[in-house]
Amino acid sequence: MVRLKTKESEKLFRAASKVIPGGVNSPVRAFRSVGGTPLFIAKAKGATVTDVDGNTFIDYVSSWGPMILGHAHPKVVSAIRGAAGRGTSYGAPTEGEIRLATLIRNAFPSMEKVRLVSSGTEAAMSVVRLARGYTGRDMIVKFEGCYHGHADSMLVKAGSGALTFGQPDSPGVPKDLARHTLTATFNDAGSVRRLFQRNPGRIAAVIVEPVPGNMGVVPPEPGFLEELRKLTRREKALLIFDEVISGFRVAFGGAQELFGIEPDLTVLGKIIGGGLPVGAFGGKREVMDALSPVGPVYQAGTLSGNPLAVAAGIACLTELGRRGTYRKLGDKADYLAEGLHGVFRKSGVPTWTNRVGSMWTTFFQKGPVIDYATAKRSDTGAYARYFHGLLSRGIYIAPSQFEAGFMSLAHTRRDLDRTIAAAREVLREVSG
Ligand SMILES: *Cc1c(COP(=O)(O)O)cnc(C)c1O
Repeated sequence: MVRLKTKESEKLFRAASKVIPGGVNSPVRAFRSVGGTPLFIAKAKGATVTDVDGNTFIDYVSSWGPMILGHAHPKVVSAIRGAAGRGTSYGAPTEGEIRLATLIRNAFPSMEKVRLVSSGTEAAMSVVRLARGYTGRDMIVKFEGCYHGHADSMLVKAGSGALTFGQPDSPGVPKDLARHTLTATFNDAGSVRRLFQRNPGRIAAVIVEPVPGNMGVVPPEPGFLEELRKLTRREKALLIFDEVISGFRVAFGGAQELFGIEPDLTVLGKIIGGGLPVGAFGGKREVMDALSPVGPVYQAGTLSGNPLAVAAGIACLTELGRRGTYRKLGDKADYLAEGLHGVFRKSGVPTWTNRVGSMWTTFFQKGPVIDYATAKRSDTGAYARYFHGLLSRGIYIAPSQFEAGFMSLAHTRRDLDRTIAAAREVLREVSG
């Protein structure tokens, strides 16, 4: 057993726990589901992060998705430096916002108009208000295990941290509000059809992660998203794709490009900020123009379209727009997936891997994993042992079974070979 030096992280974690609830500013960062002390990160570069004890790890957490170019990419860093020198916020419009909105619209033609906000949560919360305001209906359909940020209406049977901690319904969310959020089963269009039948003319929108990453990665089965498009159109409800993870990840134009489906509204975040706090939502002109100041649906933000975040986003999307980016990412992910597949097969440890392009999850169970209920069958104890085994060998994956791994353009063949070799050693321990 390799032992990791974590003295400095432990010291900081004790200090943090005195002033910050649980010592972390987002629950997914705590090591609650795998045990141990979260690592305090001192710096990151390319495909690696380095903690305060001086350990360097090959990073597949990728700040939970945004760092698709790798950490501290020179173009992004220089864009942020340049913007900072010109002032960090004005509370007035800037040219950069037009450039970022245009980059987004060119990649996502369904987003005829775009509004920038400061997080994925804020974007999802705003898009739900817009859908309700535009349709004049109160009910929203979401899927069990899908996460759309932590706004009240969306914190019902959510994935990610809420799933990890087994408290999908949070205290503090009024029952009167939560009852307007209906939950369906992912990959089961029949479950959505039944909700429409029971609530005729009352459902404003169906919101879905077209490639869920927050119950672990679960690919949509052929025909499922098409069926959602047909149902919502027939019922005059809006179809909302939450592409906060999948946008600019599974393809430049996200899952809607990959599967050829046009939602009415789209939510973005993570990658579009190049590692700075950003979210965006957009869609049909007619729907978006229901937003204030044109229309009656109120939405605002002091730091929305922040010049630093916008500069980082423009630099990131411009780099991603280069020819061959997604083929390169896909090739790296293929290579790692094939290597790991061989290791898992030989180990005899039951695993099931779901992958869409450069995002994936290996579930510790026989599979198949097609929805929340099947994801929950995983052996989280085996995952915790796998996690710690990899960590002690310099490989950093998500500290929870129900999250995704992310490939970046900075990962080298050597990084991937090291990861496969480490997994081989660890699985001997996990199975033994
Ligand atoms: C991360 C995430 C969000 C929330 O974004 P934040 O920036 O963390 O508020 C919303 N939807 C999905 C699908 C996400 O993965």
